[in-house]
Amino acid sequence: MSEPAVAPPRNWSGTVSYGFREASRPTSLDDVRRLVETERGLRAVGSGHSFNDLADGEHAIVMDRFTDVTPAADHTVVRVGGGVTYADVALGLRPHGLALANLASLPHISVAGAVATATHGSGRDAGNLATHVRALELVTGAGDVRTVRRGDADFAGAVVSLGALGVVTALELDVEDERPWSQTVLLGLPEDEIGTRLDELHALARSVSIFTRWDGSPARVWLKRREGDADVPLPTDLQSATREQHPIDGLDPVHCTPQLGEPGWWADRVPHFRTGFMPSSGDESQSEYHVARHHGAAAVQALRDVGPAIAEALQTAEIRAVAGDDLWLSPQHGQDTWAFHFTWFSGEGLAARAAAVLEEALAPFDARPHWGKLHHHAPRPERIEDFRALRTRLDPDDRFVNDWVRRVLLTD
Ligand SMILES: Cc1cc2nc3c(=O)[nH]c(=O)nc-3n(C[C@H](O)[C@H](O)[C@H](O)COP(=O)(O)OP(=O)(O)OC[C@H]3O[C@@H](n4cnc5c(N)ncnc54)[C@H](O)[C@@H]3O)c2cc1C
Repeated sequence: MSEPAVAPPRNWSGTVSYGFREASRPTSLDDVRRLVETERGLRAVGSGHSFNDLADGEHAIVMDRFTDVTPAADHTVVRVGGGVTYADVALGLRPHGLALANLASLPHISVAGAVATATHGSGRDAGNLATHVRALELVTGAGDVRTVRRGDADFAGAVVSLGALGVVTALELDVEDERPWSQTVLLGLPEDEIGTRLDELHALARSVSIFTRWDGSPARVWLKRREGDADVPLPTDLQSATREQHPIDGLDPVHCTPQLGEPGWWADRVPHFRTGFMPSSGDESQSEYHVARHHGAAAVQALRDVGPAIAEALQTAEIRAVAGDDLWLSPQHGQDTWAFHFTWFSGEGLAARAAAVLEEALAPFDARPHWGKLHHHAPRPERIEDFRALRTRLDPDDRFVNDWVRRVLLTD
């Protein structure tokens, strides 16, 4: 029997209010099936770190009883429950000497929620976190329990599901042997050199982030290396920071994972923010746009041009690299991308206005939004009709259709 639960009233930062009228906490697959058979307006609840109404609904399915983290005996894959966070996974892998290949900027987010929105970290050759998925166990909107594996016909459509296909009750993720990582921050990158140096800078380490304010001030570059990676010489014109840095100028870096080149546990280096501490600033909204790599320099120039128009709203901006994939609704579908991220102040309308400015500036590059962040428009994904057909098959009675899904995925 599902247990009673309290529905989240709003997202993590309080910038999006949800309209849930009911909430249930299933404790078994059968509980999830019963909910799907009897209720409508359903949404599985992740950790609430999205910045739009994607995660809203009428009946919240709270997944915090689905907490398994079980590595397989062959040490190549871990099975995790549909309610765990990346911090839970990292802790569960630690006794087995295992790790994930990449993480987002924070370990606080739920795996199922991150995968559903194609959340990503950084790395020229690193796919988004949905590409780590080897299999999904899904209670579909039709009430069936289905396991969809890499290689199955529905797999590429079902992984980045945006919560619209049903409830993910478990995932299998690729894992690798744990090795120490270290991170170094370089200071003093002239803003007018970012566009022409994107490739050079992202070749310096396995995971690279450039933080800038698009206001003409020098940018900073986060380099994250895994033990055993090639020791690429650092550019002599940039200075290695001798004090820890927060991605948002002026905030206390105690919230951040250790830097200064000190090797440590992968889960304490790959994300920017430490478990147990407030990630980012907390008082914020976010937007992010993905453009094909060959547009990098031109997109950077477009962002420099609109810098003054977004300055009032901007806390910090980040540029990362994400490798292409074949997942139908992934912003990396069919293309390697640069990811242009923006952390906004949360004041009334500030973020929405700034996002509109960006969308106009980046329109010539067919910029694809991060589905979990504030955006107004999205170019039609190439495989949208295939996704619609899959959705109709798996959720024939529209039990998982919310306003966001109707507006963004089902309306031309
Ligand atoms: C401080 C901060 C830093 C961030 N850093 C990054 C970053 O580095 N890279 C990046 O790409 N994004 C980043 N994000 C965005 C964030 O990773 C995504 O919005 C992600 O979706 C959050 O996961 P969540 O579980 O909180 O999702 P939620 O907002 O809770 O849910 C998102 C969607 O997933 C669905 N969902 C959740 N669980 C299930 C389930 N079990 N079954 C089916 N559907 C489910 C929900 O129904 C919803 O539709 C950041 C956000 C914050 C607040």
